[in-house]
Amino acid sequence: MAPRRSTCPYCGVGCGVAGQASGRDLTLSGDAAHPANLGRLCSKGGALAATVGLEGRLLHPMIRDRRATWDEATALVARRFSETIARHGPGSVAFYVSGQLLTEDYYAANKLMKGFIGSANIDTNSRLCMASAVVAHKLAFGADLVPGCYEDLELADLVVFAGHNAAWTHPVLFRRMEAARARGQRHLVIDPRRTDTAEVADLHLPIAPQMDVRLWNGLLADLIARGVIDRGYIAAHVAGFAEVEAELARTDQSISAVAADCGLAARDVERFFQLFAETPRTVSLFSMGSNQSAQGVAKGLAIINAHLATGRIGKPGACPFSITGQPNAMGGRETGGMATTLAGHMDFDDEARARVARFWGAPHTPSGPGLKAVEMFEAVHEGRIKALWIMATNPAVSMPDAGRVREALETCPFVVVSDCMEATDTLDYAHVKLPALAWGEKDGAVTNSERRISRQRALFEAPGEARADWRIVADVATAMGFGDAFSWRAAAQVFREWARLTAYENDGRRILNLSGLVGLTPEGYEALEPVQWPVTAAGGTARLFASGRFQTPDGRARMVRASAQGPAQPTGAAYPLALNTGRIRDQWHTLTRTGLAPDLWRHAPEPFVEVHPADAAAAGLTDGALTRVQTARGEAVALARLTDRQRPGAIFMPMHWTAAYAPSGRVNPLVAPSIDARSGQPEFKHTPARVRPY
Ligand code: SF4
Repeated sequence: MAPRRSTCPYCGVGCGVAGQASGRDLTLSGDAAHPANLGRLCSKGGALAATVGLEGRLLHPMIRDRRATWDEATALVARRFSETIARHGPGSVAFYVSGQLLTEDYYAANKLMKGFIGSANIDTNSRLCMASAVVAHKLAFGADLVPGCYEDLELADLVVFAGHNAAWTHPVLFRRMEAARARGQRHLVIDPRRTDTAEVADLHLPIAPQMDVRLWNGLLADLIARGVIDRGYIAAHVAGFAEVEAELARTDQSISAVAADCGLAARDVERFFQLFAETPRTVSLFSMGSNQSAQGVAKGLAIINAHLATGRIGKPGACPFSITGQPNAMGGRETGGMATTLAGHMDFDDEARARVARFWGAPHTPSGPGLKAVEMFEAVHEGRIKALWIMATNPAVSMPDAGRVREALETCPFVVVSDCMEATDTLDYAHVKLPALAWGEKDGAVTNSERRISRQRALFEAPGEARADWRIVADVATAMGFGDAFSWRAAAQVFREWARLTAYENDGRRILNLSGLVGLTPEGYEALEPVQWPVTAAGGTARLFASGRFQTPDGRARMVRASAQGPAQPTGAAYPLALNTGRIRDQWHTLTRTGLAPDLWRHAPEPFVEVHPADAAAAGLTDGALTRVQTARGEAVALARLTDRQRPGAIFMPMHWTAAYAPSGRVNPLVAPSIDARSGQPEFKHTPARVRPY
C-alpha cells in the first residue's frame, strides 16, 4: 500500500509527511510533494515514529479515578455545564483549547460556545504564542492576515529575524533560507541571545530585553531621514504616516541615542539601518521573541510600519511575516478559537453576530469578546468560572504564574480535560477525563504560517475508546439539547460546513473565504492537496495585498503609533536578572509527545539555565552546577550553563519540563502574568530573577 500523506503535528511550518503503518509501527518520511518542506523534516518530525506507541495513553473515559462509559461521561459533562449556565449564566463556563486541535475540532468547540452556550469564553493556548501579531495585523491591515508566503523567504535579499530563533523553532524553514543565503541572501538577527540563528547570521544585534520598539522606531526615523520611504505607495495605500512621523520626532532618533537605549554598538545599528534601507526585497520575520511581551502589539506594529512606509508588502520577497509556533494556531484564529473573534475573522459587530447566528441557526451569540487565557484562569481562581473544559493542552505547566493556575484548577467546581495522554500536570485536576485521538489517528485539517491548509490523515485505527475532539464536542452539545446543529458524522462534514461559513453572505469583503472548497465531497476532502487561503474556484492565493488594497473600510493600511516602553516588570536589586523562557531545538511543549522519543533527549537531557559568565561569577556559580532560579513567585532548579551567548544581566531557561520529568525544572510558575493590554499575551520573555548555588 502506498504511504499515506499527512502533516507533522509540531510547529507552524506545517511540513508534509508520508507514513506507512503496520500495527502501531510506523515508517515515516518527509512528503516530497508538500510545498512547505519538499521532503525535508527536522529532528522532531523525523522522530515521529518513536512517539506513536500506546504507552501512557488515555483510552477510556474516566470520572475521577473510575472508568466510565462514554454515555455516562458525556451526560455528566452536559449536565454540569447546563446546570452551571442555568444557575450562573453563560459567562460562568469556559473552554481552554489548543493549537494542537485540528480545524474541525476548533470549529466545533467555537460553535458550541459562541453559538449555543452564548458566551465567548473560549480561548486557546495560541494566546501565549501569537495573539500580539493578530492584534497588530488587525490594526494595520483591517484583518488578521499574513501577507506573505514561504516563497518570499527564498526570494528576499535580506531576512530580518526579530526575536526569532528559526534554526531551532522552525528548522525546515530555516534550511530553506540557508539555501537562499548560499545564493547571496543576507540574514540579520535581533535577539538578546546569540542563538544558533544569530551565530551564523551576517549581523547579530544582541538587543537589551524589551527594547525592540525603540530599535524599529529608530529604523523608521532613519528611513525617513534617508529619503528611502515610498511616498507614492503611502499616498495611494497607507493612512497614519504623518501621525507616526510626528510621534517619532518627539524622541531623539539619532543612531547613537537608539544604540545606547538598546544596549547595542552604534556601528551595528547603523549597519542594520543601512542594510534595510538598501534592500527592497526584505522580509521581517517575527515570532515569540517579539510577541511574548507586554509590548507585543507595539513590536508588531513597529515592524509593519517600516514595511508599509517603504511599500515592502504584497510583493515577491518583501513583507512583514509573523511565524506561528503551533501546527494549527492559524486554524484557531480562522475558526474563532480565540475569545476575541467570532469566526472566519469576523468581529463581534451586530452584522457579523447576526450573520453567524443565521448560518448556525444559533439561539445565542455573545455580544462581545470573552476572557483571554490569563484572565480566564484568574476568573477560575476568583470563582467566577465554575465549569471549565480544557482540550489538548497542559496549562498547569505552560501558563505564566502556573502555580496560581494549579490553585485555580484545584478549587474549580468542575474541570473536564480531553486529552490523548492519561497523565499530565493538568489531568491531575480533572473531574472528568475524556480520551481523544492522537496524531496519526485523527482526520482533519491544519493551517500553517503561510495560510496553507493541509490535511492530517489517520494512519492508525482509533485505539481503545478514544474519539476525535470534534465528535466529543458534538456529543456533549447533543446531550445539552443542541443535537440538530451538531449532527456531523465525519470530519469532512465539519470542514465543509466551516468552508460554507466563510463564503456565507460574503460579498468579497471578507478575505478569509474558502468558497472554492464548499462543494468538497468526502472523496475530495480525502484527496485535498495543500492550498493557501483565500481559496476560490480558481484555486489558492500565495500572496496578499499585491494590489495595495487592504481589509480596512477604505482599503488603506494603517500605520499606528508604536510607543517604546520598558519591560512590565523591571529588574532591581532583589532580582537583577531578566529571565527569558522558550523552546529548545528537540522538544515540544510539555514533552507529552517528544518526550517519548529517546533520540530527542540527547540534545538537552536536563533542565538548564543559561547564564553569562560574569553573572555566574557574581552569584558564585560554576558551569554545570545545580542552580536555584528564583523570582518573586518561586524557585526552579536547573543546571547552570555558562555562556557568553547570553547578554550580561539576562538568563534563559526552557519551558518544557513537567512533573513527570523534572518537577523542580518547571519554569513557568516563576513567570509573572504581565500581559499586553491589547492582546492579552503574556510577557514570557522578561521576569525579574536571580540565580543562587543550590
Ligand atoms: Fe515538524 Fe516543524 Fe520540524 Fe517541519 S519544521 S518537521 S513541521 S517540527
